[in-house]
Amino acid sequence: MREHATDILILGSGGAGLFAALHAHQAAPGLSITVAVKGLLGKCGCTRMVQGGYNVALAAGDSIERHFMDTIEGGKWLPDQDLAWKLVTLAIERIHELENELGCFFDRNPDGTVHQKAFAGQTFDRTVHKGDLTGIEIINRLAEQVWARDIKRLEEHRAVELVKARGEEAVSGVLFVDMRSGEYVLVRAKAVLLATGGGPTMYRYHTPSGDKSCDGLAMALRTGLRLRDMEMVQFHPTGLLAGAHTRMTGTVLEEGLRGAGGWLLDANRERFMHKYDPKLERATRDIVSRAIFSEMRAGRVTPNGGVYISMAHLGPEKVAKAFKGMVERCADSGFDLAGGLVEVVPTAHYMMGGVEFAPDCSTALPGLFVAGEDAGGVHGANRLGGNGVANSTVFGGVAGESMAAWVAAEGALREPDRGQIDAAQARCERPFAKKAVAHGAIESAREALYELMWDKVGIIRDAAGLRAALAGLDAIETDLDAAGLADHNRAFNLTWHDWMNLKSLIEVSRVIAHAALAREDSRGAHFREDYPEAGPLEASAYTSAALAGGGVDIAMRPVAFTRVRPGESLLSAARR
Ligand SMILES: Cc1cc2nc3c(=O)[nH]c(=O)nc-3n(C[C@H](O)[C@H](O)[C@H](O)COP(=O)(O)OP(=O)(O)OC[C@H]3O[C@@H](n4cnc5c(N)ncnc54)[C@H](O)[C@@H]3O)c2cc1C
Repeated sequence: MREHATDILILGSGGAGLFAALHAHQAAPGLSITVAVKGLLGKCGCTRMVQGGYNVALAAGDSIERHFMDTIEGGKWLPDQDLAWKLVTLAIERIHELENELGCFFDRNPDGTVHQKAFAGQTFDRTVHKGDLTGIEIINRLAEQVWARDIKRLEEHRAVELVKARGEEAVSGVLFVDMRSGEYVLVRAKAVLLATGGGPTMYRYHTPSGDKSCDGLAMALRTGLRLRDMEMVQFHPTGLLAGAHTRMTGTVLEEGLRGAGGWLLDANRERFMHKYDPKLERATRDIVSRAIFSEMRAGRVTPNGGVYISMAHLGPEKVAKAFKGMVERCADSGFDLAGGLVEVVPTAHYMMGGVEFAPDCSTALPGLFVAGEDAGGVHGANRLGGNGVANSTVFGGVAGESMAAWVAAEGALREPDRGQIDAAQARCERPFAKKAVAHGAIESAREALYELMWDKVGIIRDAAGLRAALAGLDAIETDLDAAGLADHNRAFNLTWHDWMNLKSLIEVSRVIAHAALAREDSRGAHFREDYPEAGPLEASAYTSAALAGGGVDIAMRPVAFTRVRPGESLLSAARR
């Protein structure tokens, strides 16, 4: 096993990881900083895939109070209000930093102000963007800045375990597999940032990048940390549906299409959203996803089993200009978005749940910090489109500063718990020790997981289905544990990595199902057919999950209304 040491170790190179690296470097240029990532820096993760844009209260008439209230009401009163406040206030600082220090070009109005477009669930058009490929602009500029500094990179290094200090409740480093050689690597660090971006890729239809498999959340659980809001999995209503033969199926068609006035049509080419919400297609993602799923269950489906999105009534030329990237993506799959109909289906997009954390990004494990989609509590039951990349960049920057301060105050290279490293290696080695089983066993486990999570832990849930899902997950894991690897060459052994991906996904799926079973109401992304009411908002509680005694412990914890209570608003009555 190779060993390295660094002051600050950052896992992941999305918006959270790269902002953390830059802010830590700025705060303490003398510290050694290492970014370790499963893919290539700047080329992987979901921040790069951001299409629609970035929510921030910039324009006259908008305010941080309005952005905050949209976030709290969209999150059905479950967000941690101090985290949400930090999001909306620091988003302003961060967008100026992106433009003026990092060099991002966002679209502008003729008068030179930044153009902000409509996204669903917002009372003001506040989404800053670069066409419909905003993430590429953000990540390219961030990566250039990281490359230009003395920040070490460990690319194609997959984190497999957060290693605690020997005999002490603190982090001491991270165990990796160097994917290029298959070798184990221990990186000892004074502070570690978990920014691996969650990623609900356990569902039949999903949007996140293939490198995301909930590894960070699984590692956090194993190290004893609690995760909150894990039942809250956001389905984006409009995933492309181009048949099972293409990975384009499930990839997202951005919310701006509905924001701009796009229509959803059933198999008879009739609009149906009026049956579900007065805001029609501009209702929040949870409502639109449920509406589409209900149409699907009623059998009013397109040839591939979804519904249609139609933009042609807005003028094909206008659509082609405003949504160039989307139009090209649809054309690649044989659809004419500007002038025709495109088949869509709800697709698992984002996890509102994640590691419990404080506004300075610290966690219950000293020395371990968390930011971005791995962190829970900012969005509650529903993330507004445009609040995701704001979340990762805002809290990434905060984490970078906090880690620099932590290292100065309490940082030490702590002796790693070698027993934990041995156990983690033994777990990763498991498929090498098995006799190779029938070709396709891992693929069958993946298919079974997709189906189970989509059917029983998806958009509409009930107790019987969730209990069946828990039993099903055990069965899938048993099959996976019995599967061996035909190829024992470790260099770029992607079947081995698939096996590890599935292990993480099953571990986290179990927590999602347990949390969904514990929440006996319906809020935002979580809808229980057997408990369809939201319940009293004043008594709002969030789920807090941890591994315990070979199972999952779920506690219901009251939401602290630190800034505003249900029924109140930070906006005066005249401005609501
Ligand atoms: C298609 C799509 C469109 C989106 N559009 C928008 C939008 O318009 N507006 C918006 O606000 N949000 C949008 N989002 C959500 C947004 O992308 C995320 O909220 C945000 O970018 C997450 O940032 P992050 O830094 O937490 O994670 P990511 O950017 O996903 O980065 C995670 C990083 O962790 C690495 N990693 C994963 N596992 C490991 C491991 N085991 N070891 C080491 N490294 C690991 C990955 O390789 C990656 O580098 C979109 C998401 C998708 C998928």
